[in-house]
Formats: sequence, structure tokens, C-alpha cells
Amino acid sequence: MRMYDLIKKKRDNEENTREELAEIINGYVEGRIPDYQVSAWLMAVYFNHLSPEERYNLTEIMAESGDRIDLSKLDGIKVDKHSTGGVGDKVTLIIGPIAASLGLTFAKLSGRGLGHTGGTIDKLESIPGYRTSLSEKEFIEIVKKHGVAVVGQTGRIAPADKKLYALRDVTATVDEISLIASSIMSKKLSIGSDLIILDVKTGNGAFIKNVSEAIVLTEAMIDIGKRHGKIMGAIVSDMNQPLGKAVGNSLEVKEAIETLKGEGPEDLSKICKTITSRMLQLAKNIEKVKADEMIDNVIDSGEAMKKFEEFVIAQGGTSEIRNKGSKVLPEAENKGSVYSSKTGYIKYIQTENIGHASMLLGAGRVRKEDSIDPSVGIVIEKKIGDYVEKGDSLATIFFNDREKYKESVKLIKDSFEVSNKHVEIQQLIYKIY
Ligand code: URA
Repeated sequence: MRMYDLIKKKRDNEENTREELAEIINGYVEGRIPDYQVSAWLMAVYFNHLSPEERYNLTEIMAESGDRIDLSKLDGIKVDKHSTGGVGDKVTLIIGPIAASLGLTFAKLSGRGLGHTGGTIDKLESIPGYRTSLSEKEFIEIVKKHGVAVVGQTGRIAPADKKLYALRDVTATVDEISLIASSIMSKKLSIGSDLIILDVKTGNGAFIKNVSEAIVLTEAMIDIGKRHGKIMGAIVSDMNQPLGKAVGNSLEVKEAIETLKGEGPEDLSKICKTITSRMLQLAKNIEKVKADEMIDNVIDSGEAMKKFEEFVIAQGGTSEIRNKGSKVLPEAENKGSVYSSKTGYIKYIQTENIGHASMLLGAGRVRKEDSIDPSVGIVIEKKIGDYVEKGDSLATIFFNDREKYKESVKLIKDSFEVSNKHVEIQQLIYKIY
């Protein structure tokens, strides 16, 4: 098989067979096929796309390139969830304990933040003592005992995707739906869960900016998962403003705790309830009304919050979280406000810039090796549709470095657009599967 012929086939809009795709991917990982040939093939895919069969095969080949996490020793229905990323997305921290309280098994591998989006692992590491790196044995033991554990994803999961993604990143071929779908699903398929719920974000704070594209991506991922025998569900949700109010690691854990107690922001609570409700409906074959009621019960009774404390402590987090709650989290030394220079209604929030402002304060990293400050971040006080008077606070900034604070104030202020006309509140969920 000559790589030249495989590129030519895709260039001419023909399908690559499973054997051909395996040769491209494995040949690249093993160093037999050079970057320039794989780049040419990626560009041909960018213009001619992949068929559902090609997508399915590519996903499996990439999943097979690395470790697979065997969850077969665990009882119950193993559920997983994936968000395509956004600003203020602390959903995993909330839905894991809710799902476990309801008898589902939530064995989750999560990532770190890069650029304007945060990562669940960085958020959890803001809890003193919490260990995100466990042996597979320890991980399985904790899930067995508590029904939930969240650890960091290692580089041994789908390494072919890692290498291909790095090449896509420098050849302008990241934003092709089949490649994104295969990339995300190769990592999901490496973990032996039975049921996957996707949360595909769309808007100015997400990497998919429009709803119709998000729907196409969602359906491509659902198709890949179903062809691999997984039970699939999904939501397409809004990222034209941060989710909830808190952006930044310990601030987000604090908001997750409030949400688990039933005291969280409305949008965040709704997303978490919708995702766990889909999990329950699909896992237990029950009606939405019943699933919603079960979720409300574990929140109102305090079971979900108790489950959160349980798994955090099992993963090394301080046991003081039981009595002190979010008071155990690190706090920034200073805080300051960003004030509105106009009276009116919030019309637009440049969400990606809010993420950048949080990163600039030290909550995120520009490069993978950068360290982060768990205590800093932003709390958004006004959301789209809210009325604001000149001089009202739009956001509170929690900081440790005054220079970084000054830079972030400007970025946040410029991110808000105020209109003198009434503005409708932003739609939160566009589609549920
Ligand atoms: N996230 C991934 O894991 N892969 C992509 O291609 C895009 C986003």
C-alpha cells in the first residue's frame, strides 16, 4: 500500500477502506509515514470529509492505538459524559455525585484546561489533598465503593489521536466535523462505559460557533457511539455566556457545591439536571418526569452532596470538607469589581475573552507546562437579558497579582455589551437526544 495512492483516493473523493485507514494512522504513529503525507491526507479529508463508515473505522483504529480502561469488574450501568468545552463548565463535579447517588456508576477520566477553557482536573486539584492520578486498581476500588471517581486522562489513552491532533493543529485541519467526532469518540471508546452523554457546546465561548454545526457534530458522534454498541444521549447547549457565574478553579468548585445543595445558578442546575435525567432515562428506561423527580430527591435530601464529600475524601481530599464545605478551598488575597459604564440590558458577552481573562489572572495555562493558581478567577454578576445601571458591578475579580488584575479588568469590561432596548434571555438548550 503506497501512501501516495491513499492520499489520491481521498483527494478524488473516494472512500479509504479500514485497512487503508489503519495503514495511515499506524504508519504515522510508528514513524513510517511522514508528516507531510499525513498533512496532505488531512487536507483532503478537510475538503471531502469522511463517510460514516470511515469515521467509525478511524475512531476504532485510534482507540486501539493505546490503553483501554476495563470497567467490566464494576457493577451497574457505567455512564460517561463528555463536554466539548467552554467557560465555567463545572458540570462533571455535579453530575458525578448525582449519578452515583441514583445507582449509576460514574468512572470518569477528565482533562486539564488549555487556553480559554478550563479543565475538570484543575478544578478538582484546587481541593487540598485531592489526587487526580490514581493507579487503575485504586480507581476501580473507589468507583466500586462509592459509585464515582474522577481522575486525569493519561497520554496512553488514544495516543494516535494525540499525534494526529498536534498535526491538525498546525495544518488548519482541526475544524472538520468527522475529524473532531473521531478524535473525541476515540477517547470515549477507550473507556469501557455502557452509556455516554455528550454535551456539545455552541456559541462565542465554544470551539463550534453555530448551532447547526454543533448539531451535525453531535449526530456524527452519536452515530459513531451507536455503531460501537454504546447507549448514546446528548444535549446541544449554549456557550454565549459562561455557564453559571464562577470561572476559575476553586470558585467553580464552590459553585458546584452550592449546586449540589440545590442553591446553584439556574442555568447550571438546569444543564446538570438535564444530563443526569437523560442518563437515568436511557440507563433505566424510565420516563423523564420520574427521572427528574429522582434527581430532585437526591439533591433535596443531601445525598448528592454527601456523595461528593465521600468520593473527594476517598481520592485524598481533606476530610474537613464534611464540616467546612467550600471553606477548605483556597481563596485569593484580593478582589475587585468591573463596573458598567452604561444603563440598559446585557446584550452580549464575549465569553472566550472571559475565559482568557481568567487564564490571564492565573486560573488557566497558555502552554501545557504552565502552572496555575487555584484561587483566582471571576464571578459574573450579570448575564444576558439582565438589567444593569451605570456603576453596577458586572463581575467580581479574585486576584493575587495587581498587574494581571488590571489587564483582566479591561478585557472583562470590553466583553460586555449593554443595549438600551430590552433583551430576551439566552436560550440554554438547543436540542436533546
Ligand atoms: N476536542 C478533541 O478532543 N478533539 C478535537 O478534534 C476537537 C476537540
